[in-house]
Amino acid sequence: MTRSWVPGADESLFGLDNLPYGVFSRQGEAPRVGVRVGDHVLDLAPVLDDEVFAAPSLNPFLARGRTAWQETRARLQAILAAEAGGNRAAVEPHLVPLDQVTMHLPVEVADYVDFYASLEHASNLGRIFRPDEEPLKPNWRHLPVGYHGRAGTVVVSGTPIRRPCGQRMPGPSFGPSVRLDIEAELGYVVGAPTRLGERAGAFDDHVFGVTLVNDWSARDIQAWEYVPLGPFLGKSFATSISPWITPLEALRPARVAGREQDPAPLDYLRRDAPWGLDLTLRVELNGETISTPSYRDMYWTPDQMLAHMTVNGASLRTGDLFASGTISSEGAFGSLIEVTWNGAEPIKLADGTTRSFLEDGDTVTISAVAPGGIALGAVTGRITPAT
Ligand code: CA
Repeated sequence: MTRSWVPGADESLFGLDNLPYGVFSRQGEAPRVGVRVGDHVLDLAPVLDDEVFAAPSLNPFLARGRTAWQETRARLQAILAAEAGGNRAAVEPHLVPLDQVTMHLPVEVADYVDFYASLEHASNLGRIFRPDEEPLKPNWRHLPVGYHGRAGTVVVSGTPIRRPCGQRMPGPSFGPSVRLDIEAELGYVVGAPTRLGERAGAFDDHVFGVTLVNDWSARDIQAWEYVPLGPFLGKSFATSISPWITPLEALRPARVAGREQDPAPLDYLRRDAPWGLDLTLRVELNGETISTPSYRDMYWTPDQMLAHMTVNGASLRTGDLFASGTISSEGAFGSLIEVTWNGAEPIKLADGTTRSFLEDGDTVTISAVAPGGIALGAVTGRITPAT
């Protein structure tokens, strides 16, 4: 690990090997791009003397492509390294304590796609929603199943989540969802675009980094609407992401081969490089840990998701976000519908109350750690009553 002169950085999970990007502001100032170092955010535009970082989103920087991402990261690591003490006096005034800033949506989200890549999650949901059928549909092991979500309702961590209303099962009846759930996921942020008609190239030429995602899901709305065209209003009311985008470069020590696949996928889905990630997530409900699913054994890896998403010539745009789908592993689940087995086994909280699904006032926080002593920025949200 390269040591830093920034106080507390080396002892934190946000040292020089991490350096996630976000958009921040201080009271009365315009939002702009920074990187997190320990419990500080570094204001990049003045430090790097580059107006691309004065923008209120990461998009202009992401559009520059991989070489620029690598050069910027190397410069920041050099500036912040302990042996670069000569820079300190010039850089330190641009280091802002995190408790003095407001974080904003880091990316202007272009298109949003959500996959369904966990074998455990897809099997569990199949058993719950379609108890009389095979849990997996015949296509599931042949392609990474996904759907196009609603980019305009992707919100930054901390945004209150209003309980949605809609047509609910059983019934149908109309009213506030009474089966409001979470989905703990990993999101991939696209930097370099493609042209219409062109397939994506190498995964890390296009994808800049990752962010934690909570795909809030109203199960009673979803259960009624999802056949035959898939999720719609049961998901589109809000999707929360972390304010921090962790560069792929920071996740090198976390990379793993990805789960063995049977049958072998078609050629265009063949893995050329290990893009599985050894991440351990933590899901907290009102501060209590309710699950610690692992990302490591997800069936479909994100390079396969990218290849599939563009195999028909659909173009990528800077700011596209695609998410993994709920991360469930053996015995550790990324949604309440699995944790409580559709409400049949409610969880008991320390305050003596139980939960099958979320109550108004509940706060859910998802965090993750990776090998190499780094953490992803957490994503949190609190449920407010329906109106
Ligand atoms: Ca999802």
